[in-house]
Amino acid sequence: MDKTLPSTLLWFRQDLRVNDNPALSAALAAGHPVIAVYIAESSPTVGRFNPHAHTPHVTGGASRWWLHHSLQALTRDLAALNVPLIIRQGSPQDIIPALVSESRATAVYWNRLYEPFATMRDAPIKSGLKASGIDTQSFNAQLLVEPFAVATKAGSPFKVFTRFWEAARAIIDVGPPAPVPRKQTGPLPALSGLALDDLRLLPTRPNWAKSFEPVWQPGEAGANAALDLFLENGLSHYAAERDRPDRASTSRLSPHLHFGEIGPRQIWRAIGARSPDRNSDKLLAELGWREFAHHLLHHFPTLPEKSLRPEFDHFPWEEDPAAFKAWCHGQTGYPIVDAGMRELWTTGWMHNRVRMVVASFLVKHLMVPWQMGAEWFWDTLVDADLANNAASWQWVAGSGADAAPYFRIFNPILQGEKFDPNGDYVRRFVPELRELPDSLIHKPWTAEHPPKDYPPPIIDHGAARARALSAFAALPKPARE
Ligand SMILES: Cc1cc2nc3c(=O)[nH]c(=O)nc-3n(C[C@H](O)[C@H](O)[C@H](O)COP(=O)(O)OP(=O)(O)OC[C@H]3O[C@@H](n4cnc5c(N)ncnc54)[C@H](O)[C@@H]3O)c2cc1C
Repeated sequence: MDKTLPSTLLWFRQDLRVNDNPALSAALAAGHPVIAVYIAESSPTVGRFNPHAHTPHVTGGASRWWLHHSLQALTRDLAALNVPLIIRQGSPQDIIPALVSESRATAVYWNRLYEPFATMRDAPIKSGLKASGIDTQSFNAQLLVEPFAVATKAGSPFKVFTRFWEAARAIIDVGPPAPVPRKQTGPLPALSGLALDDLRLLPTRPNWAKSFEPVWQPGEAGANAALDLFLENGLSHYAAERDRPDRASTSRLSPHLHFGEIGPRQIWRAIGARSPDRNSDKLLAELGWREFAHHLLHHFPTLPEKSLRPEFDHFPWEEDPAAFKAWCHGQTGYPIVDAGMRELWTTGWMHNRVRMVVASFLVKHLMVPWQMGAEWFWDTLVDADLANNAASWQWVAGSGADAAPYFRIFNPILQGEKFDPNGDYVRRFVPELRELPDSLIHKPWTAEHPPKDYPPPIIDHGAARARALSAFAALPKPARE
């Protein structure tokens, strides 16, 4: 090992890819040996449901499974560039300066994160390194528009999606991709690190993630394959079919985007290279919702915990443990809700339309606080994302920015009949109902002989709707904005 060799430290976080990765390209271009590091901050306990799971340092169970495989893929992809990935566990505030001294690094590069906890953590690390004379640079690999790049005319954050997206689209400049990284040569400082298995990210007893394996390919190659498949088969009918859980109608890129195995600029370029139409516009707008969620979380750091609309603090929420358990386990007696919750448990993902239906059922039919649903999602989704999850739950609950009005209550029977008209989706995840005819599949309790192994509805739709509306009507009126 040449101790005098200056090196560049590259800190990987949620940018687990080698292509179009600005920090990696810049580090390799700087000309010194590049050493990559990943720092695991989460506790080593592999849990399935952790009531504190929404605290950003504790990655949820399903995401931990994904992270393991994604880091495995990244290690392989970096090895092809002769860049070692050193894994450490602990606090970056301690580990980054320690690695700088161990490797005699003269530069530290990373791609920026925008979650409040991350910006609060990174700012002092950056200023500390700079004060020690280290070339410290950060880049944008995660968003089309950084949260601080757009503001209303009054200089405040946007709270209405259409206005946000209009302002954002006007300044989006995806530019060319970062230069293709070239394999580095020459000696590298040898640094100690943990083996990936030491992080104990995978569940063991029981291995509840076994059923994820045939569904997903975590890592950059999997992300690109998902994009290619979508461009080939999904995009041409995306606008018409994206609400259909019974069809393979959406990109399923969300976990890849969350872990940065692909960046939104890469998707924008791939979609933008085709002639614009309502399908590509719709997909880009969905990426826009992702941008909006990050904008909201950055400017309203309590988004994951507190309703943005303070009047919802007075809502008579019910922490009904039995009803919550039935919801979590897909045993509510409403087939579309149960299919969604079982899709989530079996695959770590749920179709967006069904996410809206199950979330609405929890907060409106059962009046369970949206935060409890968000925590369950956080632990069970492979795409669990603090910004998207919190913003979406608040959107459904009616408590968030530009949210669906609380009084719009999804009817789970009609939603099922409209978006899963033949019951194919329900039959896939709720085998007890397979034998029912299409006309009864979304209301099995009306069958002459309802299946004995499927529960009756835990709550009557009409009564639940009336109860929720009267609770909503009693809320204090919001102050004018
Ligand atoms: C209650 C609830 C919770 C949610 N929690 C999450 C979460 O934790 N993580 C997450 O990534 N998404 C979340 N979403 C948003 C959305 O359901 C998923 O992003 C989408 O289903 C992912 O599937 P896809 O990649 O096939 O989406 P596509 O339809 O192919 O969309 C492409 C990309 O756009 C983004 N996107 C799409 N819809 C939304 C949206 N409504 N809000 C923000 N970004 C969006 C995603 O990154 C997605 O991968 C949630 C939605 C609801 C209603």
